[in-house]
Amino acid sequence: MSDTSLLQPVWDGIRERFGVRAAPLWGACAAFLAHVLLSTLFLGLDALGPRVPWISRYKMPGKPVSARVWLRCLARISWKYALCVLPLSACTGYVLTRFGFSQEERAPSLFVAGLECLLSLLVFDTCFFVVHFTVHRNPWLFKIFHQSHHMNMHPFALTALDSSMVELVSQQALAMWSSMFVGCHPISQILFHLLNICLAVEDHCGYNFPWALHRILPCFGGAPFHQAHHQRGTGNYAPYFTHWDLIFGTAITT
Ligand SMILES: [Zn+2]
Ligand SMILES: [Zn+2]
Repeated sequence: MSDTSLLQPVWDGIRERFGVRAAPLWGACAAFLAHVLLSTLFLGLDALGPRVPWISRYKMPGKPVSARVWLRCLARISWKYALCVLPLSACTGYVLTRFGFSQEERAPSLFVAGLECLLSLLVFDTCFFVVHFTVHRNPWLFKIFHQSHHMNMHPFALTALDSSMVELVSQQALAMWSSMFVGCHPISQILFHLLNICLAVEDHCGYNFPWALHRILPCFGGAPFHQAHHQRGTGNYAPYFTHWDLIFGTAITT
């Protein structure tokens, strides 16, 4: 079996079932469902932590989240996502097909899809670093754009999307633009959105497991890097990689 054929049945299924036009919307829905599912797993760990010592050993400073706080956060992000992010994704699909993009019938190879995801992630990380640094330097921008995300000093996985509506839409638009800038195949875009949400959940999960990505690949900051940003309210502006904060001297530890 050739490498190309590994993604071809998935791409054929998406095209037949949802249509190319709906691919960005489908990607946004899949990312949201993945976010809620992964966050539920971490809620389960928080509930089990007090009774299972090996779980609490890897818990970072901060109280385990209660079901009530978690559900309130879920309600907050759900209506914002439904009201803004999903319509934006639907419009993107319409525009892409209306102007002749996204007509690919063949799926990319796994290698190409992986490369497109990595490049999109690097572009997204760079743009996010610039925007995040800028809003932290401007009190007015910080207040309207980013303050609500910083209400969570000890974040939990679900708070990865707990942001103001304007920030949520901007991040989604930035993710879409990053993948379009790289020239991603639509299926790579969907994979990139899933990867993006997995990394955002890891940033906010409040656990520092030995198998976490940043322990294996030190170029990633992971939960300790991003939690330090939430606690100090400054530094570590890049969402995933550490290189920009190291280059510009904004890297901090807890
Ligand atoms: Zn911030
Ligand atoms: Zn955060």
